[in-house]
Amino acid sequence: MVVPYRHEPFTDFSVEENQIAYQKALNYVKGQLGKEYPLIINGEKIFTKDKTVSENPSSRNEVIGYVSKCSEELAEKAMQAAFESFKTWKKWDPAARANILLRASAIIRRRKHEFSAWLSYEAGKPWKEADADTAEAIDFLEYYARQMLRLKDGIEINSRDGENNRFSYIPLGVGVTISPWNFAFAIMAGTTVAPIVAGNTVLLKPASTTPVVSYKFMEVLLEAGLPKGVVNYIPGSSSEMGDYVVDHPTTRFINFTGSKEVGLHIAEKAAKVQEGQIWMKRMVSEMGGKNTIIVDNEADLELAAESIVYSAFGFSGQKCSACSRAVIHQDVYDEVLANVVAKTKELTVGPTYKDNSKFMGPVNDKAAFDKVMDYVEIGKGEGKLMTGGTGDDSEGYFVQPTVFADVDPKARITQEEIFGPVVAFIKAKDFDELIDIANNTEYGLTGAVISNNRDHLEQARDDYHVGNLYFNRGCTAAIVGYHPFGGFNMSGTDSKAGGPDYLLHFLQPKTVSDMF
Ligand code: NAP
Ligand code: MG
Repeated sequence: MVVPYRHEPFTDFSVEENQIAYQKALNYVKGQLGKEYPLIINGEKIFTKDKTVSENPSSRNEVIGYVSKCSEELAEKAMQAAFESFKTWKKWDPAARANILLRASAIIRRRKHEFSAWLSYEAGKPWKEADADTAEAIDFLEYYARQMLRLKDGIEINSRDGENNRFSYIPLGVGVTISPWNFAFAIMAGTTVAPIVAGNTVLLKPASTTPVVSYKFMEVLLEAGLPKGVVNYIPGSSSEMGDYVVDHPTTRFINFTGSKEVGLHIAEKAAKVQEGQIWMKRMVSEMGGKNTIIVDNEADLELAAESIVYSAFGFSGQKCSACSRAVIHQDVYDEVLANVVAKTKELTVGPTYKDNSKFMGPVNDKAAFDKVMDYVEIGKGEGKLMTGGTGDDSEGYFVQPTVFADVDPKARITQEEIFGPVVAFIKAKDFDELIDIANNTEYGLTGAVISNNRDHLEQARDDYHVGNLYFNRGCTAAIVGYHPFGGFNMSGTDSKAGGPDYLLHFLQPKTVSDMF
């Protein structure tokens, strides 16, 4: 009997016992820093000379680990291993495959703070954000395991007299999972286990700035009993072997989450049929966002300010769902702006691996720091700087939470994804204009409406064109199984991770009609 799905609760860090437990996990991880990590291909640990150095973004000289880099030759070996293991893995009872996910989830739950502590070190996550990332990884395992049980016998279709018709789902083959650093655990794990529970085998290429936490996850999968070769861990440089695995004629699907630029590049490559390739590659591509919270004139203005601040600055704005545009009705614009600025000034920024005192940690790396600071400079020419606007990368990559006011809806900082703690305020004259501005980007990932006007909420339900729309709350913090996640337009293929249709991306339905 499988217990019904419920999402993993978050840790209450106001409880002293939990603080002590987390600190203990941080101390444990500290003792593990600086190790060397291998690739895992067909269950074999392979150390390469060439290594990626994973650093602590809060303290740039501290090395989290030295992670072997996969070459083209080793990627080929991984491809062959995945191809071979597909032959047996696809025949496993789906319930037995689901059981591996549930076993992995149980292992992670027992070591929950340890995983979160890795995220505090490797991804610079404040405790609360790290805890949510780990909880989401657990949720993906638990949810997709149950979804597979739902799909395993197919779906009932009609049969006429003298005919027995069946409609069932079979896996696709070997896929490549390419994951981002911002949910270094949850998205990496979710985009890996969904294809495998469906019977596929995978090459996992994690983001280069967060490879250690993904190695720790690989260890869990193997401990849970995953047969060798089902997931092959191939971290490394995207320029060296990214294109190789994407182009490979054996690749059947690509499960990508990351930026629009890289997603489109991969989609274009994947569309080209290579010599010997006998299928069209399936592409799931979840990409960026430029998400807006709109505030109506009839609204809880305190809730509006809280929602904007948390959605814009949680994890330093480095969520694909982060709010980077606040579009406010002219009647309440000044009040909401003043309140957001006041709340933003109270936020603390600093290292996340020492204690739980800071609301915001660093941005991801030097490249992220430079990109965000460039946009801050652009913003100074496009709006009125209300607070923040500075950064310091002398020790870690810290950027102060930044608010720009009176920005044009077509300005660069209101159109381009910054992926940092920067929010732009835009004024609108009425509700129609609030919606028009919210919809005026090429993206369509998340959005929120703060309003007490039911007519307006119903209008937004139809007209606000985003994959994840929230009423009277912030636009981040989607929960697996409760808020299936994915965006429209240039935000990607709207695969709805953590939703009831997600596994279908990695399955193909087959109809068998039997006469009697
Ligand atoms: P990214 O730079 O696009 O990288 C994503 C992944 O693609 C990384 O593993 C990266 O590897 C790999 N990659 C880069 N170039 C490649 C190539 N030519 N071939 C194969 N793989 C390649 O994105 P990121 O900076 O990690 O993550 C932030 C972005 O992800 C933001 O745009 C955010 O909005 C988006 N995101 C979207 C969602 C969603 O659900 N819609 C969720 C989370 C994040 P390297 O690290 O080695 O370069
Ligand atoms: Mg990157």
